[in-house]
Amino acid sequence: MEDLTGKVAVVTGASSGIGEAAARLLAAEGVHVILSARRRERIEALAQELGDKATAVVADVTDADQVHALFDTVRARFGGLDLLFNNAGLGVFGRFTDSTPEDWRRMIDANIYGVLNCTHAAIPLMKERPGAMISSVSSTGGRYGIEGWSVYSATKFAIVGFHDALRKELGLEGIRVSVIEPGAVWTEFGHNVPEEALRERRANLDALTAADVAQALVYAFAQHPRVLVEEILVRPVKQVAP
Ligand code: NDP
Repeated sequence: MEDLTGKVAVVTGASSGIGEAAARLLAAEGVHVILSARRRERIEALAQELGDKATAVVADVTDADQVHALFDTVRARFGGLDLLFNNAGLGVFGRFTDSTPEDWRRMIDANIYGVLNCTHAAIPLMKERPGAMISSVSSTGGRYGIEGWSVYSATKFAIVGFHDALRKELGLEGIRVSVIEPGAVWTEFGHNVPEEALRERRANLDALTAADVAQALVYAFAQHPRVLVEEILVRPVKQVAP
């Protein structure tokens, strides 16, 4: 494994769940982490806890201007970027026939436009940085359609397709493009699923912790720059389907 000391990472959705766990683990590995999300108080508290290993920058990934301001800050403060972790996202649960265009738009904006906005702004900062990596969080729902999550699944399938094409565009420049597809994880995700049902499903599956997913990210990032861990599907062993 490579030494990650001194690397620079942007983590979107760092205010909770997988993003927060990834930020903690990266900082523990010596990476300077730019924590981004909309909830200022959460990322500022985490930045304070992580000390000189973290900087908090509020940004809504669906807003291209805010995303540009985020990456302008990265350029001004650090001069470049080694890791973009496109983790911010959301899912609205429900049968497609009961869903609304507003639900679709929220998921498409955060899960697709968010990744596109951040990736587009980050790539110029990743040139000539050996081992630079873009990692985006898809889902097992990005590999298999999941009942009740049709539009969410569509957004996560889109990320897998986008990354496969982007990998071909950026590989010869040495920029690694990688996808993580987690199964069920104990986080705040699933805000409109009845709390008891969500807890029961995660308990029955012995769901992953956010730190388990963070480990997968760091495993991929800490490989030698010639090594691309292209895709990691990581699920609770008891989640046998889908
Ligand atoms: P959380 O709800 O805990 O975290 C989601 C994060 O995304 C929050 O930090 C939130 O921050 C951020 N976010 C949402 N919308 C925006 C936005 N418009 N702009 C900036 N940040 C935003 O859930 P998870 O940690 O589980 O989710 C992380 C990723 O993992 C998501 O992409 C999700 O789809 C994926 N995933 C989760 C699984 C699970 O079972 N938990 C399974 C498979 C994939 P804030 O509200 O402060 O902006």
